[in-house]
Amino acid sequence: MLRRIAGLVAAALLVITGTAVMSTATATPAHADGCYTWTRTLKEGMKGEDVRQLQIRVSGYPGYRSVLALDGSYGAHTKAAVTRFQQAYGLSADGVAGTQTFNKIYQLQDNDCTPAHFSYSELNKCNSTWSGGAVSASTARANALVSMWKLEALRHALGDKPVRVTSGFRSKACNDRAGGSASSRHMYGDGVDLGSLSHSFCTIAKQARYHGFSNILGPGYPNHNDHVHVAVGSTTWSAPNCGI
Ligand SMILES: [Zn+2]
Repeated sequence: MLRRIAGLVAAALLVITGTAVMSTATATPAHADGCYTWTRTLKEGMKGEDVRQLQIRVSGYPGYRSVLALDGSYGAHTKAAVTRFQQAYGLSADGVAGTQTFNKIYQLQDNDCTPAHFSYSELNKCNSTWSGGAVSASTARANALVSMWKLEALRHALGDKPVRVTSGFRSKACNDRAGGSASSRHMYGDGVDLGSLSHSFCTIAKQARYHGFSNILGPGYPNHNDHVHVAVGSTTWSAPNCGI
């Protein structure tokens, strides 16, 4: 009996402790801390995981026909991407990531680190595990996250109107069912098909050239008259009907 009471007391304590932790979490402002918080100002010459986290968020601002390396090293390309990000959101554009830049990112990102207008579930209508593709599940999911930040940049550049994702990650089985090519980037997590919603396919394809997609296929390319495919890992741009 005594043992049983001791057990009950321990259980009750656990519940109380758990409750205390939960209310602390609830009381914390719902922004940065939910995903990732930067603790220092970042600028050219710096290195670290915090730089890499920043590079993911500004990967949609590499400049025309470029892809920003996510190497954790704040070089000239990262500085230029941060500057373009700052310009895009009307911040003072000095290429240094400080409070103003981080606050804008906090405002844009959800607690799971996805940007405000795209989600993991939207990027994976194949399965919930991200497994069965050409890379590990964690790599596929990480690649999809980078594509989402690029799409957020694309969406913002096109006037913040909705952009519809019709297909994202595919396992090999899902890719076969969709009739995708054997080397489809959808199996890597970074390939995304965009449908027409607020913009024409050509408007999307043309704008995508500025946002970190080395692979763009659209109208005029075989089987791409009804969507625009964007990805990395291949350096093919082809949308002949759009002049690309
Ligand atoms: Zn595609």
